[in-house]
Amino acid sequence: MRILLVEDETTLAAQLQRVLTEAGYSVDHADNGREAWFMGGVQPYDAIVLDLGLPVLDGLSVLRRWRSEDVTAPVLILTARDQWHEKVAGIDAGADDYLTKPFHAEELLARLRALIRRASGLASALLQCGPLTLDTRSTRVTLDGQPVSLTAHEFRLLSYLMHHPNEVVSRSALAEHLYAQDAERDSNTIEVFVARLRKKLPPELIETVRGLGYRLNLPGAKG
Ligand code: CA
Repeated sequence: MRILLVEDETTLAAQLQRVLTEAGYSVDHADNGREAWFMGGVQPYDAIVLDLGLPVLDGLSVLRRWRSEDVTAPVLILTARDQWHEKVAGIDAGADDYLTKPFHAEELLARLRALIRRASGLASALLQCGPLTLDTRSTRVTLDGQPVSLTAHEFRLLSYLMHHPNEVVSRSALAEHLYAQDAERDSNTIEVFVARLRKKLPPELIETVRGLGYRLNLPGAKG
C-alpha cells in the first residue's frame, strides 16, 4: 500500500514518514500544495494524508482540485486545533476523515487502516484468505496460526493482493502500489517477490494470469 504524505512541518513530516514506513506502507512526501496536487493526480495512492495549512497552494484547494479531477483516493486531513470550520470545509470538499493536531501516531495509523479497508470494501482489520491471515494492525501474517516471516516488500505485495481478492492485478499496478516515487521501480522484481511469497505460502494461493498479472484466489470463490 502506498501513501502520499503532505505536510510542510519538517519535523512532523519526518516523524510521520518513519511511522508510516514502519507500519508497512511505502510513502511519498510532498511539502507544498502544488507538488501534492501534481503527485496525487498522477500516482495511484491507496490513501493520502493532507495537512490543510500548506505553502504555495492550501490543502483545501488541493483537495477540491483532486475531487474535481476524479482523484478518488481516500483523504485524511490534518487540521489545526480549534479550527472546527476547517473540518467542515474539508469534509465538504471531499475529505474522508480528519485528525486534529496534535495527535498520536497510533490514531493516524488506525484511521488510515479504516480508510483503506473501506475503499476496498472490507469490514475487518483482520484479512483472511483460507488458512492465511493478515493483521493490518500488527502487520503480522499467519498461516494455519503459525507466523510467516515476510520482508517489507513481500508484506506490501501480499497486503495489496489481500485487499483486492479475486481481482487480476497487473505487474505494473503492483509496482505502482508497492514502491515510493523515488524508489527504483522495476516491474520484473514483482515476479521475484511473487516467487518468494509462493515458497512461504500455499503455492496455489497466488495465481499467474498469463499476460495480465496475478490473482489472489479466495478458497471457494473461484470460477
Ligand atoms: Ca502546515
